[in-house]
Amino acid sequence: MWNLINFANKKFKNFQLMSVKAEIISIGDELLYGQTLDTNAHWMSNKLDENNIKVFQRTTIGDDEQQILNALKVAENRVDVVLITGGLGPTKDDLTKPLLAKYFGVEMVHNEEVINDITLLFTKANREVTALNAKQAELPANCEKITNPVGTAPGMWFHVNNTVFVAMPGVPYEMKSIMTQGILPKLHKMFSKGVLHHHIIKTIGITESSLSDLIEDWELNLPQHIKLAYLPTKGQVKLRLTGSGDDLNTLEQEIAVLQKAIMPKIEKYVYGFGTDQLEGIIGQLLNKNNLTLATAESCTGGYLAHMITSVSGSSKYFKGSIIAYSNNIKTAHLGVSTEDLRKHGAVSEKVAKAMAEGVRRELNTDIGIATTGIAGPDGGTIEKPVGTVWIAYSDQYKTFSKKFNFSRNRTFIIHWSALAALNMIRLNVGVK
Ligand code: AMP
Ligand code: MG
Repeated sequence: MWNLINFANKKFKNFQLMSVKAEIISIGDELLYGQTLDTNAHWMSNKLDENNIKVFQRTTIGDDEQQILNALKVAENRVDVVLITGGLGPTKDDLTKPLLAKYFGVEMVHNEEVINDITLLFTKANREVTALNAKQAELPANCEKITNPVGTAPGMWFHVNNTVFVAMPGVPYEMKSIMTQGILPKLHKMFSKGVLHHHIIKTIGITESSLSDLIEDWELNLPQHIKLAYLPTKGQVKLRLTGSGDDLNTLEQEIAVLQKAIMPKIEKYVYGFGTDQLEGIIGQLLNKNNLTLATAESCTGGYLAHMITSVSGSSKYFKGSIIAYSNNIKTAHLGVSTEDLRKHGAVSEKVAKAMAEGVRRELNTDIGIATTGIAGPDGGTIEKPVGTVWIAYSDQYKTFSKKFNFSRNRTFIIHWSALAALNMIRLNVGVK
């Protein structure tokens, strides 16, 4: 359903009919030295994937003339679209622009539009255009200028021998602006002959492999034009359904029918769709049921409260948190008994439950949720290894605690604990 305009004339690039292939070339010594993370390639891959352009290769190279020329040649021979970021600044270490002119065998020419764009941008910011800025207006003669709405280095579009080359500055927000406003619409126009629709189902509390077992039959029976991808990220698994066809409405309806068919099996794990966030869903549930919440946090140290309060409007249902990191605070402010602490330890079912009940009582809320665990890397024992976390939930009907065994490092253990606590709220709000 996607096609190259002049596919018939195109030289052989060893790709499947109909699929458009891209390569991302990230340029900059700082990327190789580990000083800057290549977030541009990550973001672009994601956007290209959304537009059904397959990223075939990512290449990272330094500010080195020969390496850049080599990379361009190799890319030209194997893909349809080459996206380059970095090295577009006006300073001496930025080589990309003159190199592109050299690569295509063209002169650098002055482009007055660039000066106008920069002047417009600088007038808003009350800045003077300098000689160095003016140098940005020198562009390879064969390129089409793509406006940079937020910076001085314009994007460049080259269409040479059936290959599109795009060059953009490395500054991430400038690259994103140019891509979103200038490049993606152009690529879409050039390669699209149909529509592509993504639908995301978000789950928590189940691993990728268990989820895959659960929906195996359904997955095997998906129609050819609707693909399923599992996207696990930090304790959650997203299911992405991607449909391709001629009409968006039809695709949306087909995907809705497929979702309806699988929901009974996965309902327990599905907390939302599209851009939904678990903390936002919790907020909606609490609001709907007119309930208030407080947290008692030991191992999460306030991270859970931070997640809850990252939602605008959370003051309506979230009253506060008692960060009871030490045993003293657990007894003095949450009413945990010293006897229980001595007998069972702080990381125990008993103490977690007492914390959840305590915070509900002290902060006068409908629901109390508590975390207590060993985030490590020190402090683990054979009986209670690093990653052992008890999470307790308390409301007017019930108080219970659940043990989790998380792995990896401290950051993950804290994050997973908070997610598990949020999920416990999701599953229990309004349940008698
Ligand atoms: P440049 O266009 O090479 O002058 O890059 C400007 C700035 O953008 C650099 O200082 C980097 O910090 C940043 N940058 C360059 N390339 C990337 C990339 N691939 N990902 C994230 N940041 C980048
Ligand atoms: Mg650079």
